[in-house]
Amino acid sequence: MKKEFTGKIDTKYRKIMTSVPVPESEEILERLHKYEPRSMTGQPRVVWDRAEDCTVFDKYGNQWLDFSSGVLVTNTGHGNPEIKKALIDMINHGLLYNYCFPTEIRSKLVEKLGSLAPTPLEKVFLLSTGSESTECAIKLARTYGVRKSGIHKKKIITFENAFHGRTLGAQMAGGSPGAKTWIVNLDPDINQVPFPNGYLYAWAEAESLDYSEENCFSHFLKALSEQGIEPEQIAGIMIESYQGGWVQLLPKGYAKRLRAFCDEYDIILIFDEVQSGIGRTGRFFAFEHYDVIPDLVCCGKGLSSSLPISAVIGRSDIMDLYGPNEMTSTHTGNPLCCAAALANLNYLIDKQLIDNAFKLGKICLDSLLDLKNEYSKQIGCVNGVGLVWGVLFISPISGMADPTLARRVVDLCIQKGLLLFAPVGNGAVVKLCPPLTIQEDALIDGLTTFAEAVKEAVESY
Ligand code: PMP
Repeated sequence: MKKEFTGKIDTKYRKIMTSVPVPESEEILERLHKYEPRSMTGQPRVVWDRAEDCTVFDKYGNQWLDFSSGVLVTNTGHGNPEIKKALIDMINHGLLYNYCFPTEIRSKLVEKLGSLAPTPLEKVFLLSTGSESTECAIKLARTYGVRKSGIHKKKIITFENAFHGRTLGAQMAGGSPGAKTWIVNLDPDINQVPFPNGYLYAWAEAESLDYSEENCFSHFLKALSEQGIEPEQIAGIMIESYQGGWVQLLPKGYAKRLRAFCDEYDIILIFDEVQSGIGRTGRFFAFEHYDVIPDLVCCGKGLSSSLPISAVIGRSDIMDLYGPNEMTSTHTGNPLCCAAALANLNYLIDKQLIDNAFKLGKICLDSLLDLKNEYSKQIGCVNGVGLVWGVLFISPISGMADPTLARRVVDLCIQKGLLLFAPVGNGAVVKLCPPLTIQEDALIDGLTTFAEAVKEAVESY
């Protein structure tokens, strides 16, 4: 039975004039449903028509304040005017594609990224998706280990609950066993260890386990030894700068110990910043929060705020391991993607959006902690920094993750004109991640709307 539409919303940032999903959009939804795999149906059924800065419009008069940035992509806002101009200029100029042949726009983009990255990260390899970048980093780390020290140095260590993409290698590196059941020959030399997530530990393993900052690196070493892994066998360690599913940052002491461990055993440290990089956390690279520098960093999503482009940025000796034409891609450094990325980076820096993200993070923290205090039985934890926050919903009865409650909150937000993507982190974490261009009053409007949705979801549960 269709739910009755209970009232219009018409505020400065949000307009909901019809019930959602909009009855007139059924034809589009059915067509997609018929011709696309079921896996594409998980998001709230808002049919995007156009989007501008922090607002997404459908063509039926509704508009949402966007707290999704798509999926943490539109860091400089949807349809950023400078990106649009750069794209139009490139189209009019007359270059849509160039394979790996040299172009001026690619040279400018790699120079920009190389100069934004701290020493010794200086070479940049462009790809299209985040998954390609993480797989490329794995390949480089293993190649480095094996070529330098022999075939015994081939292990890649990643973390439980990690997400590095959905292609074969990226999924093997991921930390969700359920996502790997389709893989017949799992690489025995890609191994997972626990992520230093205090909340998960206290939850799953009983409180006796000390996961304090000083102690947590010993859990890493213990996990290696339990799996019979010698440090000398490890070619690379890949870690998300914050773990995406829970927006879980690393304890700083842990990151420093990890860096020292990699230095001691000549292990390539890879930070996967496909999600966390390019200003999202209030630093250009999220690893800057830890005062450590990896050997390779993977970027994607917010790199262009629009067209598909990703990058591996790294130490020259690692990036130069492959000879001419041995590490390439059909769409590497597509001129439109490069133009979009360069305009995006310039805008991000000129408008000081990274500082804006860091500053506004404090407002998010205060608001979400208030909410957690009010609903302490339904909100398990609140994590985040800058403009990315995750709210874990739990059942007041079992204390375990509650995907139904989380989804109910998202659905209510959609009805109220606040756009969120479907919950992540075992389906129980609602993520709040507006474009970094958001103004303070819009942010407060969204956080207030979110709080209203939580109240209604809890009261009607
Ligand atoms: N790494 C991380 C940390 C990610 O969040 C994602 C995407 N959510 C990926 C890799 C994969 O990126 P893509 O979907 O562009 O392949």
